[in-house]
Amino acid sequence: MIMPNNLGRQYNLHAKEYEQKAIEVLRSGWYILGNEVKMFEKEWADYVGSKYCVGLASGLDALWMSFKILGIGQGDEVIVCSNSYIACVMGITMNGATPVFVEPDEYDNIDADKIESAITNKTKAILAVHLYGTACNMTKVIKIAKAYNLRVVEDCAQSHGNHWEGKTVGTFGDIGCFSFYPSKGCGAFGDAGCIVTDNEELADKFKVFRNYGSRVRYQNEVVGTNSRLDELQAGLLRVKMKHLDEFNSERCKIAEHYNREIINPRIRLPKIRPGADSSWHQYVVHVSGCRDEFAEFLRKHDIGTIIHYPIPPHLSDAYKYLGYKKGDFPIAEQYADEVLSLPMYNGMTEEEQSYVIEKINAFVPEEA
Ligand SMILES: *Cc1c(COP(=O)(O)O)cnc(C)c1O
Repeated sequence: MIMPNNLGRQYNLHAKEYEQKAIEVLRSGWYILGNEVKMFEKEWADYVGSKYCVGLASGLDALWMSFKILGIGQGDEVIVCSNSYIACVMGITMNGATPVFVEPDEYDNIDADKIESAITNKTKAILAVHLYGTACNMTKVIKIAKAYNLRVVEDCAQSHGNHWEGKTVGTFGDIGCFSFYPSKGCGAFGDAGCIVTDNEELADKFKVFRNYGSRVRYQNEVVGTNSRLDELQAGLLRVKMKHLDEFNSERCKIAEHYNREIINPRIRLPKIRPGADSSWHQYVVHVSGCRDEFAEFLRKHDIGTIIHYPIPPHLSDAYKYLGYKKGDFPIAEQYADEVLSLPMYNGMTEEEQSYVIEKINAFVPEEA
């Protein structure tokens, strides 16, 4: 069986290094907010090209804490793409703010030309989600944000080390949010996340907020939360990030192989926005009219795939209260019916890639 993702393969590429670091941290006797977190924060900020990084417990925490710290909540609106992962929307609504959806373009993330018409006098921010490992048009997003005095938060959970016009994502807006969930580009071995920012005051607020609102033990300045990146994950992330560029270029090679050799009129290959690169967090094809049949065909040939994502947030049960119905965001709804993520992971052999390509090219739908 060829799995859509295979984290064990990636682990095996550098198993000894992770194991050594894990033992080092375990034996250190210090497990929360210590030297590993401090070093990771410095190294990740340097890697991204930001002044500050604050380690947190997850990507969702990075998102909701960002809006909280920016003072965005009840009565405020935040613009987000209609085909995003639901965590993006929860990051907005956990603070009581309202998501305002904007449809994606042919590059699978927000259509910046449609942002302006979604702005109202309640709009406070744009959440730019760099979905599938490739950047939004940040030139346009930033231009609109400046014109309307909006905050920009970037969700870089799927785009570790990606660029827009040569600059790393996460450095365009007020805050860049990262998830280090195991399947992400620089994945931890459990839950983890962080924010990056050039704003010292914001960075300081995150540091206090993540630790019960406390800077000095037992003195609490604000009602904060517990969202601390732990030493073990930070140590392991320090090992993993050394290999991130190598992981990204390996996935680029696999994507190039797919791009070059998948030839099937029913399968629309992913498009990368001019000005953006891709780390191929997902290799997402569009299959109009017969996606499920295609997935089933591959499954029968022992090839696993995933749908990112089958239900757009506005149609999710969780967001019934927003009052949307089918047809409100037709492009996101269409994408939910036609996208499929092909197997893509570090350590995927050429043989596996060729097998996947061969089967995809052999697919012919049973016409009704
Ligand atoms: C994974 C992901 C998140 C959430 O990250 P967690 O660490 O799982 O909380 C948010 N946004 C996007 C786009 C993601 O892919």
